[in-house]
Amino acid sequence: MRVYELLNRFLPESYTAKFVAILAAALAMPVLSALLVPTDRTAGIVALIAAAVVAGIVAQRSIAELLSPLEKVSDSLQRTEAGYRARPLPECYRDELGLLMECANRMAVHLDAQLHIAAQEAERDPLTGLLNRRGLERRMPATRPGAILVIDLDRFKDINDAFGHSAGDRILTHVSDLLATTFRSGDVLARIGGEEFLACLPGASLEQGRQAAERIRIALEDRILIEGRPVTASIGVACGHRGVAGWQVLEAADRAVFQAKSAGRNRVVCAKALSSDSDRGAGPTGFLLQRPGG
Ligand code: GH3
Ligand code: MG
Ligand code: MG
Repeated sequence: MRVYELLNRFLPESYTAKFVAILAAALAMPVLSALLVPTDRTAGIVALIAAAVVAGIVAQRSIAELLSPLEKVSDSLQRTEAGYRARPLPECYRDELGLLMECANRMAVHLDAQLHIAAQEAERDPLTGLLNRRGLERRMPATRPGAILVIDLDRFKDINDAFGHSAGDRILTHVSDLLATTFRSGDVLARIGGEEFLACLPGASLEQGRQAAERIRIALEDRILIEGRPVTASIGVACGHRGVAGWQVLEAADRAVFQAKSAGRNRVVCAKALSSDSDRGAGPTGFLLQRPGG
């Protein structure tokens, strides 16, 4: 950028003028040599050729240097295109190149923000704002086992049938708000199905998971009412330990929900401790939610 910087001191407004200045300087060299070299014809021709060659080399080098900031712009655009954070380009120049750098910076910032929003949206359930399955998979703690609660609202189809789908939607958002305020900030919450939610309590034992589930069950029954009728949930709790894959814990919690439904709903059921048999197939990531190949 040295030649560009130098010319920018004298011609800050125009990139084209910088090229013209280099070409003018290159043309001036042979002209000057013709004027300054003695009138001897051979010496004059030699000096003219030498001056023209030197002028050509200087012009070629200077133009290459003048173009070098474009490589930075191209590098920045390529990084943006590849999804990397682009290095900000200088924004102190007022010529055409300066405008291009500002434009590349704005584009990089805009694309970065768009990618961030798209990534956020891809991980969130639009109705409740909770994580969806994809978001859950990403946030699940990889190394720290804990308790998993699967919370399935009871007879939700009946609520929809009796009060309408939009009333059902409102209930789902109230439930998600209640869950979000009840669990601690380190816990991971997600909506994993229509009226099914999952809470992961990293580091929690089965008993701590059961207590949390019971708190949620009572809070739902007490605070979420539709026309005076409580909305209840059946909750299955399972606990992972080192070496047990997340999908195994989730399947155990699902089976516990099924038992809670069979036993009359609006209750918490804890899964039996996962046997050492189920340790088989535990992935190195610890909390893979999906059964491999499933
Ligand atoms: P159970 O106690 O056995 O869980 O009964 P259920 O009616 O809750 O379960 P079922 O699986 O039979 O029905 C789930 C209902 O949840 C049916 C479906 O219309 C409703 N549902 C799923 N997603 C949404 C949603 O986004 N909005 C609304 N309003 N309802 C939904
Ligand atoms: Mg269900
Ligand atoms: Mg249900």
